[in-house]
Amino acid sequence: MHRSRSRASEANWQQALAEACRDPGELLQQLGLDPRLADLPASVCRDFPLRVPQSFIARMRPGDPDDPLLRQVLPLASEARAVPGYVADPLAERSAARGPGLLQKYRGRALLIVTAACAVHCRYCFRRAFPYQQQRASGRQAQAVLAELRADASIEEIILSGGDPLSLSDARLGWWLTELQRLPQLRRLRIHTRLPVVLPSRVTAELLAMIAACRRPLVIVLHVNHAQELDTATITALRRLRSSGATLLNQAVLLAGVNDSVAALCELSERLFAAGVLPYYLHLLDPVAGAAHFELPLARAQALMGEVAARLPGYLVPRLVREIPGAAAKTSVEFAVHKAGPSHNQNRVT
Ligand code: SF4
Repeated sequence: MHRSRSRASEANWQQALAEACRDPGELLQQLGLDPRLADLPASVCRDFPLRVPQSFIARMRPGDPDDPLLRQVLPLASEARAVPGYVADPLAERSAARGPGLLQKYRGRALLIVTAACAVHCRYCFRRAFPYQQQRASGRQAQAVLAELRADASIEEIILSGGDPLSLSDARLGWWLTELQRLPQLRRLRIHTRLPVVLPSRVTAELLAMIAACRRPLVIVLHVNHAQELDTATITALRRLRSSGATLLNQAVLLAGVNDSVAALCELSERLFAAGVLPYYLHLLDPVAGAAHFELPLARAQALMGEVAARLPGYLVPRLVREIPGAAAKTSVEFAVHKAGPSHNQNRVT
């Protein structure tokens, strides 16, 4: 690709990130909603400010305070309320740290915190209070992380995480991919990202070329919670990612008021598949301070998934999981599959 054209496309998505909306009142006004909905205690936005790009706002329904995309990003006054059991580090990630920017929770896999930046601030994020200043593999720490990985042959899969790794420049992302692929023991690379969904212009020809050039299998785990996030531009971007050779999976979080219905969960799986993405996990909410309003009773989550599993083929049913700090893997949450009535099967091809 011509160098000046690639610089221009990088500048485009970086500009879109820089112009993301950061003011709750402005966001509400843009959507034709009462800006007083954004009367918040100062601590809510000081600790975890609003951040949402215009490309994501464009997918919200104007005039609807219950829009499932708006609910994911709009700070609420209730976030300032202390709720028993909801804490700053619900997954005890501080104790999984092997050094600045390097976490190991599970055998054979390690997770790198390569950036603190995200395109969007999701109000339910379990890392909303993560100490990125100390726990980030940037600058000299990046070399220390690589040295640690070189010395540990048991780490066969590296997960680039954050923050959002695709908020890095192509040059920095390329540096990480090159360095990590020099590890002789490495079998797979994984990138956890929400950027191609929130800002599809991030899927540039340069990024696609970088992915296509990977010599190890690359898995991209996306994060989509509602089918409304998957508009035409996003689906096109995801299909291009898939064509570049990456395996695409999705993890979602089950969120009250966002995707807590059988119809929403089924449509999410269907639209993901149409975009070339397999539904992988549906996480129960991690009890992070400020996110209690998204919680759904466990029995309700199980009942929903029982119904979803009765309607969809197995490969479209994500695993319902919760993360228990210190466990050897994600913990599956069991549920009974409801027997589907004739109306459920009318349009089903098996
Ligand atoms: S994009 Fe991911 S890491 Fe960033 S705020 Fe959302 S959930 Fe958290």
